[in-house]
Parts: sequence; C-alpha cells; structure tokens
Amino acid sequence: MTTYEAVIGLETHIQLNTNTKIFCSCKADSWGAEANSNVCPVCTGLPGVLPVFNAAVAEKGVILAHAMHADVQNVSIFDRKNYFYPDLPKGYQISQFFKPIALGGYLDVPIPAEGDNEAYSRKVGINRLHLEEDAGKSKHAYGKMQVDFNRCGVPLVEMVTEPDIRTAKEASQYLTRLRQLLRWLGISEADMEKGHLRCDANVSIREKGSNVLNTKTEIKNVNSIAAVEEAIVKEIARQIKLAEKGEEVRPWTLEWDDDAGELRKMRSKETAADYRYFQEPDLLEVKLSDKEIANMLKDFPEMPLERCQRFEAEYELPTYDAEVLTADRVLSEYFETAIKAYGGDAKKVSNWVMNDISRMMNDEGISAEQLKLTPQGLADMLKMLDEKKINQSTAKSVLRKVQESGKTPEQVVKEEGLGLVSDDSAIRTVCEKLIADNPKEVESYRAGKDSLIGWFVGQVMREMRGKADPGVAREVLQELLQG
Ligand SMILES: [Zn+2]
Repeated sequence: MTTYEAVIGLETHIQLNTNTKIFCSCKADSWGAEANSNVCPVCTGLPGVLPVFNAAVAEKGVILAHAMHADVQNVSIFDRKNYFYPDLPKGYQISQFFKPIALGGYLDVPIPAEGDNEAYSRKVGINRLHLEEDAGKSKHAYGKMQVDFNRCGVPLVEMVTEPDIRTAKEASQYLTRLRQLLRWLGISEADMEKGHLRCDANVSIREKGSNVLNTKTEIKNVNSIAAVEEAIVKEIARQIKLAEKGEEVRPWTLEWDDDAGELRKMRSKETAADYRYFQEPDLLEVKLSDKEIANMLKDFPEMPLERCQRFEAEYELPTYDAEVLTADRVLSEYFETAIKAYGGDAKKVSNWVMNDISRMMNDEGISAEQLKLTPQGLADMLKMLDEKKINQSTAKSVLRKVQESGKTPEQVVKEEGLGLVSDDSAIRTVCEKLIADNPKEVESYRAGKDSLIGWFVGQVMREMRGKADPGVAREVLQELLQG
C-alpha cells in the first residue's frame, strides 16, 4: 500500500499594531467600534485623494523580516491587486507583488514529543514577506449584504512559507511559534480571534519520498490554531481517500466551518493573472538604505528560542522551566532581573515566578507588565525567607498584599507585623503556658508518644498567628518537655 505524506504551505496575514492605518491617519485598530465609524476618503477610495505611506509599517515589517532571517530589500514597490468585491471600495487592494519588502528566510519550529514520536525541529522556509492594506468586512443579514469599511487600510504583512510543512501538528506549532514571536517583538497583538493573525493553508499530498508537487487546495477562514490543525487533518484525509479511489484532487478553495467542524468548497481557485497586478501610480517606491534598516533594528531583542537555551545553560534550569519563562518576553525579563538581584538559587526564583506569581496573574487577569511586585521586590522577599524573617505561607500572602497596595514586601511585613518571631523568650513564654494548660498531652509525650511534638508546634504556631519560627519552637518545646 502506498504511504502518503502531506505538503503544506501557510500564508499568514499579520496585522501590525501601528497607531494609524497604512495610507491614511485613521486609527489602525477599531476592534469593537461601530461599523463605518473609522473611515476617511483615503481608505474608502473616494476620488481625488492620495494615499501617504505610514513609515511605522515599514519599520515593523523590517523587524519581522529580520526575525525570520529574511533578506530585507532596499527598494520595494506597491502594486494594485484588482478585483471586485463589495468590501473593497476602491476596486483594488494596494499590496506588494513584483518587489516585496523581504525575500527568503526561515523559522525554526520545535515539534514536541508526542506518543512514540520523539521531539524534533522543523525548519520552515519563508518565501517572501510583503506589505499590504486590509479590505473591509462583509456579512449577510436580513436578506441583505452589509459592509463595514473600518478594516480598510489596516496595515498587514503577508508572509508566505515554502511548502516545507509535513503534518497538521507542524502547521499548528509554526503558528504557535509565530504568534509568540509577534508578541515578543511587540509588532502585533497576534490575536487570531480578532483577526490580527489569519492563516490560509495550502495542502497537497504525494507518495512518501517523492518530491513532486501535486495539485493543492487552499483552506481559508480558519480563526484559531486548533482549527487550523483540525482542518488540515481533515483535508489530508480527504485527499488520501480520493487518491486511493484513483480520483483527482481538484484545485479548490475550501472554507472552514468552525461550528460544523468541516470544510466546504468555496470556489475554484483564482490564479495570479486574474488580479491584473500593476504598479500603484499614487505611491513612491519604499526605499530603505542599509543605515536606515540598521537603525530600525538597533533595539532588536534576543529571540525566545535563544533565550530559552541560554536560561537552561546559564541558570541550570530544567527545559520545562526555561520554556515557561520564555513564553512571554516581559516575564522572561522579570525572571532574569529578579535572579540577578537575588543572587541565590535560580530554581527558587523560577518556582516563584512559575507558580505563585503566575497563579496570581491568572487569578487577577493581569499581565507581567502589571505586576506591582518588582523583580527587586521578589529578590528582597526571597532573602527574607532565606533569613527566616518570614515563612513560606507569609511570603505567599505578602505577594497578594503587595499587588493590592503597591507597597514593597518589607513595608507590608513591617506594617502588618508579619515577621517571624525567632526571639526565644517570646516563644518560650507561649510554650510554657501551653505545657501548663495541657497536662494530658504532656504526660503522653513523656510516656513515649514522640509524634505529639508536631501537635505542640502547631499549637504554638496557632497561638502566635503563624509568626513563630517553627524550628525554634520545636527546640524550645523539646527542651521544656524533657524537664
Ligand atoms: Zn482612513
């Protein structure tokens, strides 16, 4: 029996988080705004107005291209992509076709182990990145078509991969990594549900080991990473079934229906020639000198994968910790600043960040930027723990109190009197009273029931509202009980 493999390429549309649209001064993001409330003559294509290119779009495009190891072009050109659709008032979309802003590149995508399959890395080649404007949105309601032009002119980067992806899992991992990277670079919110990151998948199959490229289909309208994976799984299965019956795969465009969890045929696929591309006469070439490109990249950050590997090596963290800490750039920087300020065991800092601090962020619905406990504050708190000035459970409550009040951990501990009492005499007084009040327990302990010591320590802790150093309490109790 023939074994098949899939050949998958992804086209992603990434909404850049600039303040204004690509060719006019309307706000770029109008998520949730009233329909047609964020438009002007330029983005709705009224006659007699001229587009002006927003330089911030080029800068963010260059940053993304650099992250993908792509070759940024010194000259790129805008073209008109002509087609008729109600959500496109100009009758054409301004895009880059003949000379895009960047060519080539790749993204290394780690694929985690699953079942019997070991973890591996897939290098996904990038064909090109180009800049373009978004179109509007249309929907059918009450027997009529309604259009909303708010999205017209929203800046996008379209990024097209080489057909290097072999499984649905690889496709979803590629998108997961890409989304992480976009947020890491701060160039897009990359929220698929809001349409900030959209993905079309080209899928074909071939006999395993051959290198022919067979007829492909294109899957559109998928709005979550899980749905991309599911849609590709189903499309591969459909094509294999056709091949096994000796039938041909037709070059269809398929639409993903998320509610039904199935693919539907939208139309037969257009070819590039249908769009009659030609250079946009109202815009100049985008010229970027090497110096300008270098300047755009002067604050380019360390990439998540590199940082993850460095955390493992430099701080001797388990891979799992390094991955969790570098899933978010701000969190990874938080960790690193804290460990430098603390100077002690990195695993201890990692545990606090991954457990209690992350849990609090989840509970309160806040991001790492909104943490009131500074990395220095965390370091100070860990030092108080090491020096037995507070205990573990106090530290956990201090964390929440710092978040509520904005005070430092020291202030909270001092003002609320949460410091541990390691002063022998205070503990001794409580222990003496406890022994006097509980003659029966004292008798049992002295008769050999050693385990009762735990009960005594617990009583002291309760009496002192958790602030006694349990080690000191145990020593004092043992001494008094022996006598
Ligand atoms: Zn506008």
